[in-house]
Amino acid sequence: MSAAVNAAPSGAPARPDTWRDGHPVGEVADAAPCAACTPARFAPGDPGRVVVDGPESAADVLVPAVGFRDRERCVAAFLDTKHRLLGTATVSIGSIDHTFMGPREVFRDALLANASALVLAHNHPSGDPEPSRDDEMVTRRLARAGEMLGIDLLDHLVVGGARWTSLARRGVL
Ligand SMILES: [Zn+2]
Repeated sequence: MSAAVNAAPSGAPARPDTWRDGHPVGEVADAAPCAACTPARFAPGDPGRVVVDGPESAADVLVPAVGFRDRERCVAAFLDTKHRLLGTATVSIGSIDHTFMGPREVFRDALLANASALVLAHNHPSGDPEPSRDDEMVTRRLARAGEMLGIDLLDHLVVGGARWTSLARRGVL
């Protein structure tokens, strides 16, 4: 007898995973930057209202904060156990083609926010949302650091203007 490797356990119907299933590239309508949607160092969200349940809703929260910047910027959305938005923070601000995304910077604010999960996003000022090899390596490294801390890195969006690419849906996470 041969069993399918990816079969759902105990005959339960396979539930779609909104982080992993779907198109990896998206676009946010009305993603022009505005002062009001720029994350502060730590901006408390409104628990119980915004649920970040996939790359599309993560993009709605994060793309306006980085999309049209002329320097690379990394931002994070911190989520509770039910993936409700606890708040957002700017992790780092870099140069035209690089920003630093170290575990210390990423997880310091996540721990302070008491987050169970987080989503990262950084922009490419060139407007090209294609992830670099470095983006993929950094993302895997951050996911491993998060595992040790009990904070799940759900996704990392690479943003070019209003367009974004989900590294979770690319299979990197
Ligand atoms: Zn990048």
